Amino acid sequence: MANYSGPVCRFCRREGAKLYLKGERCYTPKCAIERRAFAPGMHGQARKRKTSDYGLQLRAKQKARRVYGLLEKQFRNYFDQASNEPGVTGLNLLRHLELRLDNVIYRLGLGASRKQARQLVTHRHFEVNGKLVNVPSYQVKPGDEVKVKPSNGVFDVALDASKVRPVPSWLSFNADDKSAKILARPERNEMESGVEEQLIVEFYSR
Ligand code: SF4
Repeated sequence: MANYSGPVCRFCRREGAKLYLKGERCYTPKCAIERRAFAPGMHGQARKRKTSDYGLQLRAKQKARRVYGLLEKQFRNYFDQASNEPGVTGLNLLRHLELRLDNVIYRLGLGASRKQARQLVTHRHFEVNGKLVNVPSYQVKPGDEVKVKPSNGVFDVALDASKVRPVPSWLSFNADDKSAKILARPERNEMESGVEEQLIVEFYSR
């Protein structure tokens, strides 16, 4: 699947919020949004006009897509899946995003950013229920066990870097053997707080 590989700090500046796309740098004064807290481009510092409802919905969708590092088609597919399932569409959508294997690796602190976590998955560093999985979009479910492949020293560094982000309660992590269990499906208060799923639903329901 194609992947965006251009500069990412401009996304944070566009959304006016930290999206934590660059790992450790996001927690330092070098963060671009700390130094230039205005939208990128020629008119980034121009006086802001009132945003329409459509504009707000579009921004909410773009923000969520960028937080999870997905292209439009992938994101739309998740929305279609979520809207065909029973329950609240916005919550279903967020759960699909949270239960991606690359996001789980990021949540466990094994990747400094979701982008790095995705790369680690494609580089075949993880097993799910004893089988190697190298597909970042793989959907884990409660009861699954995710494990770093044996004899993989690369993660000792990552584990130190992960202390700034606590592991959420729907995951349990054993640092000794670098294995994790999916305990439950994530609840809304354990997911990205800056994502406005209701606006995303409105965007796709126009
Ligand atoms: Fe966003 Fe991180 Fe870049 Fe800061 S350093 S603008 S949080 S990606």
